[in-house]
Amino acid sequence: MGRVYNFSAGPAVLPEEVLKEAADEMLDYKGTGMSVMEMSHRSKAFDDIIKEAEKDIRELMGIPDNYKVLFLQGGASQQFAAVPMNLMKNKKAAYIITGQWAKKAYQEAQKYGEAVAVASSADKTFSYIPDCSDLDIPEDADYVYICENNTIYGTKYKTLPNTKGHTLVADVSSCFLSEPVDVTKYGVIYGGVQKNVGPAGVVIAIIREDLITDDVLEGTPTMLKWKTQADADSLYNTPPCYGIYICGKVFKWIKKMGGLEAMKAHNEKKAKILYDYLDESKLFKGTVVPKDRSLMNVPFVTGDADLDKKFVAEATAAGFVNLKGHRTVGGMRASIYNAMPIEGVEKLVEFMKKFEAENA
Ligand SMILES: *Cc1c(COP(=O)(O)O)cnc(C)c1O
Repeated sequence: MGRVYNFSAGPAVLPEEVLKEAADEMLDYKGTGMSVMEMSHRSKAFDDIIKEAEKDIRELMGIPDNYKVLFLQGGASQQFAAVPMNLMKNKKAAYIITGQWAKKAYQEAQKYGEAVAVASSADKTFSYIPDCSDLDIPEDADYVYICENNTIYGTKYKTLPNTKGHTLVADVSSCFLSEPVDVTKYGVIYGGVQKNVGPAGVVIAIIREDLITDDVLEGTPTMLKWKTQADADSLYNTPPCYGIYICGKVFKWIKKMGGLEAMKAHNEKKAKILYDYLDESKLFKGTVVPKDRSLMNVPFVTGDADLDKKFVAEATAAGFVNLKGHRTVGGMRASIYNAMPIEGVEKLVEFMKKFEAENA
């Protein structure tokens, strides 16, 4: 069986080139006579892998020298706790609730201090991003927290919130490396890599150095204290070595593709094909306010649950897989991350047109 067009929200499609390279190196990585899975994380070969990966992501994102890049484990969800543990000096933080992942982070933070919901789009099933230009942010809040791209609902911040001088913390799991980013606007940028960057098991955290201190909440586990990880260059314990190695290959692939400007152009072109069709279709409808649409996750519905089901079944049989929407939204969702080729989206739209004609 050949490769399918995989529209999974995560773990998600990876560049075929990267998978082939990894396959070629599986038994003997660069003359070491072993797989990267089998080598010591203290070896010269692995040291080169992690250093090179850090160098490449720094170059891609233009990460300034006063930010650390950490390769951690525990997924994005682990950082829902690590963020308050490391940052809640005043035991207070402002959260903007734009979907399930933001809500989960907000609920986790409540265990450690006062998490204040300063805005929410729950009133319309998270189908938009609230106006964040003049929020009522408590003076003594330690940070303002956002989920920048909402994987489940398909919304994305097009402008960052006005934090009124407070540190901005962003979960970028589902828009990581999808477009250029001004790192200096954030205190912390983090994301699980299994959406756009690599295999599950790695979370990358980019943290401004002054936020990495010994002054953490009492009881913070050693492993969750960012300083432990920063002081050890992400090698305090055994890191997810193989995952980091694949991330490194994806960074090289993005560089070869032309970097984040080129990635953005490629992603805009892909998303436009799908959104243009959704806007003209009489059968399928996008669920998100147009100005807040994500380039990465595109939810849509027919308005008829049985027809949605029929569509997903026929699409799957035709080789377009993982199009079923999240259980809380229903309908469909096409995740079209960096590694989804343009032909994948073109062929999906062709298929949708055919389905529309047959089911009119
Ligand atoms: C998938 C996802 C998560 C959860 O990631 P895990 O690595 O499974 O913990 C968190 N935030 C966003 C935005 C996501 O898309």
